[in-house]
Amino acid sequence: MGLSVTLSDSRAQAAIQARRFGVPPAMIEAATQRRLAGDWRGACAAADVDLHLNPDAIRRRHGADVAGQLLADLRSLAPDLLRWHMPRWRHGSGQLLEGLLIPLADYTATPATLTLAAATPRFAVVAGQRIVLVVAENVRRRDRDQQDPGTRAVFDGVHRRSGERHSLRRHRMFWDADAAPGLASIAGADDAAAGAREITRLQDTGQAPAAWAAAGIDMASGRHRPVSPDRQGHLTRWLATVPVNLPLLAHQVRQTLPGAGQAVIRPGGGAIVLRGLDRPDGAVSADVVAPAAARSDLPVVPEAAWARPVDADLLRLGLLRPHELHPLVAAALAPRTAVRADSGRHDWLYAAVPGIEAECAHGPGSTAVVIHCGSQRHRVAQRGGRWEPVDHGAHPARETLIARLGGPLNPCLQAADYLSAGQHVIDLVEHLMEHGRTGEALRLLREHADASAAPEAFVLHDGTLGEALSSLREKTLRLRMILSGAALAPDTRDTHPPTPNRRHSRKGEPARQHR
Ligand SMILES: [Zn+2]
Repeated sequence: MGLSVTLSDSRAQAAIQARRFGVPPAMIEAATQRRLAGDWRGACAAADVDLHLNPDAIRRRHGADVAGQLLADLRSLAPDLLRWHMPRWRHGSGQLLEGLLIPLADYTATPATLTLAAATPRFAVVAGQRIVLVVAENVRRRDRDQQDPGTRAVFDGVHRRSGERHSLRRHRMFWDADAAPGLASIAGADDAAAGAREITRLQDTGQAPAAWAAAGIDMASGRHRPVSPDRQGHLTRWLATVPVNLPLLAHQVRQTLPGAGQAVIRPGGGAIVLRGLDRPDGAVSADVVAPAAARSDLPVVPEAAWARPVDADLLRLGLLRPHELHPLVAAALAPRTAVRADSGRHDWLYAAVPGIEAECAHGPGSTAVVIHCGSQRHRVAQRGGRWEPVDHGAHPARETLIARLGGPLNPCLQAADYLSAGQHVIDLVEHLMEHGRTGEALRLLREHADASAAPEAFVLHDGTLGEALSSLREKTLRLRMILSGAALAPDTRDTHPPTPNRRHSRKGEPARQHR
């Protein structure tokens, strides 16, 4: 068991890697500068977000009012913040989930309702984890034939119901810089009342029934349809792993789905049906059922409304420090922590060094790291291109001899070997490339690798960096051609399955999954 039953080690690691390597500080800095200068197109470009929208065309078709609202939203959109919070795999390196449509805002217009949405069709994700921002008409009705070829390709590449599960229409703090402080109100930060803290403690320790009872929600499984004791035990164990934001659940669901009496939470693996949301006495009950046992016509509670924000958990459990968070997230969740602009600037460069505690200064132009060496803290410093232990009485030569004879290396020597071999740079470049961060990978190699070799010749686990870069360039070009209507999206039948129950396409047409 990790630190919390609701946050598995693999999910925590995936979330940390996604943040560290998928939204690095240089990207946040570049996107923020452009956003603050009013350059929303530039901000999106800096955050690898492709735009498929045309405010002028929207003004002509729907009027100045709607176009004005859209432009105001685009100016306060922080594309780097959106990328930070995008739904991701809960294991591995936390890459973007493919095939999602994430509505951000609706605009009531004639002749159609317009929706600003972020999307992750496969043809964008394979082009270096890119996100497409699109404005579409009548997204809820999936009015596919009314859309231009680029929007149709996006619609065809996303799951039918992802728009409900991932809607951020009423949770702008996940993408809008002006609304970002609102994350504090749904995170139940450190000011949380004692009752909320106790509920979280029960969830951390896997006591789901007690946690739901403490939140005042009557939770049961098999109330409306009998289930076997085996099945019931399975559902209860599953429920304990779901990071439901219990103290705020009923309030959040009522705000997000006003007027709904019942609604369903679908985290995958099970479903939680909420009843009594419209009861005047406020008594809400929850039934835990298998996914197929929940009525498919019930409104789906968006994840933003039911889940505890993962950043709040990472911070609470000490897995990320405030300066490692997106600045807008840190300002919301840890407002009293002054984040120095330069603090931890290179933390991520040395994060994977075995035994590392921190980076420290070591004379002009020289870096050192602090290593846990037994019960001591020792420095390992860079001297003329090599890394060497600084704080050791024992002779390094003697230590090396012991190691050569099969004895253990002391932690300082291990760290020095790792750093001297450039293993920290190799690991980082691999991680950055997994998340499509080519600019960062190249900069890292220019600054820290052996200057005699060109960065493009750098060997990754499946080819050179140069090959990876040209493949990404090709896929990005293809993405732009698909959006402009100059190329068809690849038939999804030939790729990894985004959903188990894809429809077959008609002959000669791209697969139509989501009519
Ligand atoms: Zn040592």
